[in-house]
Amino acid sequence: MTPDVRPLVAGNWKMNGTRDSLDQIKAIAQGVMVPLSEKVETLICPPATLLYVSTALATDSPLAIGGQDCHQARSGAHTGDISADMIADCFGTYVIVGHSERRIDHAETDQMIRAKAQAAYQAGLTAIVCVGETGEERDAYQTLDILKRQLFGSLPEEATAENTVIAYEPVWAIGTGLTPTAKDVEIVHAFIRDELILRFADEGKGMRILYGGSVKPGNARELLAVDNVDGALIGGASLKATDFLAIYGTY
Ligand code: PGA
Repeated sequence: MTPDVRPLVAGNWKMNGTRDSLDQIKAIAQGVMVPLSEKVETLICPPATLLYVSTALATDSPLAIGGQDCHQARSGAHTGDISADMIADCFGTYVIVGHSERRIDHAETDQMIRAKAQAAYQAGLTAIVCVGETGEERDAYQTLDILKRQLFGSLPEEATAENTVIAYEPVWAIGTGLTPTAKDVEIVHAFIRDELILRFADEGKGMRILYGGSVKPGNARELLAVDNVDGALIGGASLKATDFLAIYGTY
C-alpha cells in the first residue's frame, strides 16, 4: 500500500465470458458477499462484446468497467480492432494496454503501447500499463533492466497519477499458480516507484502500482499488504464474483 493512494482491485476476463457471465458483473456490482466501498476502487475488464451491457449493469454502483486493449488510432481502417473512443462511448473508464499476452501474441512494442496509452488519454480513459519480465529474463537477473526499459518506453510524458495505473505482472506468474515472494514483490514495486518519481516527480508518487499474476483469495492478503502494492490485476480469479469479492474483501 502507498499512503493516501486509493487501491484498485481490477479483473481482466481476457477472452472469456459470454452473456451468461453477466450475472457475475451483476453480483460484483451489487457486492453480494462484500459490499463495495469507495475506499477501494473496483474494476472489471470484460471482453469487448460485453462492454456496453456491463456498464449498464454497473450503473449506480461503484464498479468501474474497462476495455482490455485499444488501437492507437482513434478510428479508421483497422479491421477487428477497437478504439479508446469506442470504449469511452460504451461508458468504460479504463483500458488495459501492453498486457504481456498482447505483447507476445500481437508483437506489441513499447512504442505501440505508449501510443495506445496516449489514445486512452485522448478518449478520457485511464490507462493500465502492464510491464513484467519473462521467466528467462528473471533467471538471467534482468528483471529490473527489463522493467526500466518497458516503463521508459511504454509511458507517455503526459502520464499522471490520475490517467495512468501501472501493473507489474511477471509473465511467468500469469495463469501458472506461481507468484514471486512478498519480498521480491516489495523490491520490484519499490524500484518501479523510484523510476516513476524520477520521471514524473509528485505524479509518480501517486501513481498506483498493481501486482498481477496468480492472485487468488488465498494469497491476496499477503501480496496486497506489501509496500507500494496499490491493488491487483486479477485474471482467472476474477471470472467468479465470489473469488473476486473475496480478494477485494482482504482490504
Ligand atoms: P492470472 O492473470 O490472475 O490468471 O494469473 C493475471 C493477468 O494476466 O492479468
